[in-house]
Amino acid sequence: LKHLKAVDEEVFKAISNEFKRQQEHLEMIASENYTSYAVMEAQGSVLTNKYAEGLPFKRYYGGCEYVDIVEDLAIQRLKKLFNAEHANVQPHSGSQANQAVFFSQLQPGDTILGMRLDHGGHLTHGAKVNVSGIVFNSVQYGLHPETELIDYDEVYRFAKEHKPKMIIAGASAYSRVIDWAKFKEIADEVGALLLVDMAHYAGLVAGGAYPSPVPYADFVTSTTHKTLRGPRGGIILCKEKYAKDIDKWVFPRLQGGPLMHVIAGKAVAFKEALSEEFKQYAHQVVKNAQALAEELKALGLRIVSGGTDSHMMLVDLRPLNVKGNQAEEALGKANITVNKNAIPYDPEKPTITSGIRLGTAALTTRGMKENDMRRIAQNIVKVLKNLDNEKVIQEVKEDVLSLCSSYPLYPDWTKDYLQ
Ligand code: PLP
Repeated sequence: LKHLKAVDEEVFKAISNEFKRQQEHLEMIASENYTSYAVMEAQGSVLTNKYAEGLPFKRYYGGCEYVDIVEDLAIQRLKKLFNAEHANVQPHSGSQANQAVFFSQLQPGDTILGMRLDHGGHLTHGAKVNVSGIVFNSVQYGLHPETELIDYDEVYRFAKEHKPKMIIAGASAYSRVIDWAKFKEIADEVGALLLVDMAHYAGLVAGGAYPSPVPYADFVTSTTHKTLRGPRGGIILCKEKYAKDIDKWVFPRLQGGPLMHVIAGKAVAFKEALSEEFKQYAHQVVKNAQALAEELKALGLRIVSGGTDSHMMLVDLRPLNVKGNQAEEALGKANITVNKNAIPYDPEKPTITSGIRLGTAALTTRGMKENDMRRIAQNIVKVLKNLDNEKVIQEVKEDVLSLCSSYPLYPDWTKDYLQ
């Protein structure tokens, strides 16, 4: 980073500090991960200089012969990874991927049926503050109050009653297997299209550790930077009959030039995700989440729905009389990064909450296993029981630093970033 340091000391310093933060913290935000050196080299390459409006081999700019190779590789690898008929790798984000699907099939005012934000759904699935809830008539399903599982009876009832044109399955804070076949059955019965947003689960699906929605859904969207461990961005998979519609809505209707450097990062990530090693990672992510959940339960916390089948869990902090915002802050001081999160039927405001969301993807990428998860659970509970005790928090931080140093992150780049 010598050029950056020479040109812009302030930005260099912030990046350098962020590098150190990533090395020295336990990253437990369920939507984050660490990409490989190879992904970052591709993303930090000269491809950022290139305009390439259009699709591979059909561009509106000259000089696209090499970026065509890159985007074509990304598309072919992605189709293979998920066994999909058609893939578009250009969406700049998960949100834009969802918008392209909506606008390709729906008119303003049409009814959509998605999962409630406060029960674990995503903003873009019809929340009132998002364009999906502003432009469309959004109806929202939630979790069963007792089981805390998706209430498929409610989904069916709402589908029959409101006749949505599109049903959206997928979530940002739901730890259990989602029954894609059930969603498809309901969608078919009311003549709705099915969009599955697998952003959180995509890496697990790719590695065979979570069921694939691809055989069931008309459209599957995802981010590429969560469990899938690629650069930040979005993708769309669909049946061949929707291919032209989707491509047209991504460009020119919603976006301009694709980010070719990010698409290069996606191509590399998809190659990595096709490997045997990635399958092991995906299964280990789930094993780690289950070990973490079990230990937290043994130490007196409640896990929403009783456990997890994925990389994440929602922890109900009420048994320890702690609020989500207090937990986020105190754990942060001990170098454990988490986010406060509403639990289903949470009596607290979204700025306070009764829970935290924990994920194991990033820690698994670092190489951590079940024993490390149990040690982390013990540290988490120690902090939660000693929110105002600086000495205990300091002790936990020391243990976290020692754990982090046993699993070095980006060691080849340390000298460069911390110069
Ligand atoms: N869909 C789901 C289920 C998500 O969890 C997220 C991000 O948190 C997104 C979409 C949006 O992705 P982005 O932040 O890339 O717009």
